[in-house]
Amino acid sequence: MTARLIDGKAFAAALRARIATLAAEFSATAGRKAGLAVVLVGEDPASQVYVRSKAKATAEAGMAGFEHRLPAETSQADLLALIAALNADPAVDGILVQLPLPAHLDEHTVIATIDPDKDVDGFHVSNAGRLAVGLPGFVPCTPLGCLMLLRDQLGSLAGLNAVVIGRSNIVGKPMAQLLLGENCTVTIAHSRTRNLADVVRGADVVVAAVGRPELVKAEWIKPGAIVIDVGINRVPGDAPGKTRLVGDVDFAGVSAVAGAITPVPGGVGPMTIAVLLRNALVAAYRHIGDPLPPEAI
Ligand code: NDP
Repeated sequence: MTARLIDGKAFAAALRARIATLAAEFSATAGRKAGLAVVLVGEDPASQVYVRSKAKATAEAGMAGFEHRLPAETSQADLLALIAALNADPAVDGILVQLPLPAHLDEHTVIATIDPDKDVDGFHVSNAGRLAVGLPGFVPCTPLGCLMLLRDQLGSLAGLNAVVIGRSNIVGKPMAQLLLGENCTVTIAHSRTRNLADVVRGADVVVAAVGRPELVKAEWIKPGAIVIDVGINRVPGDAPGKTRLVGDVDFAGVSAVAGAITPVPGGVGPMTIAVLLRNALVAAYRHIGDPLPPEAI
């Protein structure tokens, strides 16, 4: 069997086009653009790349981007004061603080300071709790992007066995909550899971969010399963001094067994930014008291 390729890049491009149309309608209604503030503390190279691409995507969607780059030695008090100012700013609909933060800053306190109604990353405990109890709120971008791809592939996910490998607050746990919400039978695996291969073998849907290059092997996969690879790992390339990106799934092996699979790059990655724009737009419409119907995007 050769797996269908799940083209996250094309799906994300279509989603971003729909968002741009709705963002233009928002601007016409509200008399201003939907606004997304991004806060970056320090000079982490990967974070700088992410923030640049988020800023570019925000502008392309016809939204206003407010970028705040702070030095690595910024105090917790100064960062919290900036977030408080963004919470109060009527031009800002969504706030994203790029993680990880420098070690002297307390991530939990920083996230807890963001107004939950502007928490477009969905990391605030209020939004995590809303997801857990099935209330509407902001859902973290990467797992929501994965769910959109799965719904597009499968339609209904009801009754399927889903295994999520990874239990981070950013990907694994919200992914499992979303799949439970779709009526899957969900297993969350992690570094202490025994016989991971056997656990994964029972899955109709596998989501790998581990951060271990090509951990998931072909022999672990039930024939025909849908495999979503969240991992982004940089490994040595073919030529000396070169590197390449691989996922958490052994793509070449698994695509011979799975029914469908996301590539890395070009699978989940592009969905993350598209869903961020989606969340920012949802926040903007809510902010003006004219919520978007859920089927709009
Ligand atoms: P974390 O490091 O926060 O979590 C990794 C999880 O994997 C942990 O729960 C850990 O278990 C588990 N784990 C580690 N090793 C193993 C193992 N050998 N077997 C089973 N489970 C294991 O990572 P994130 O959730 O933040 O990210 C996961 C991956 O997804 C990374 O590669 C990251 O770069 C990528 N990512 C991609 C995004 C995108 O847009 N495509 C966005 C966000 C992340 P334990 O809890 O026991 O330690």
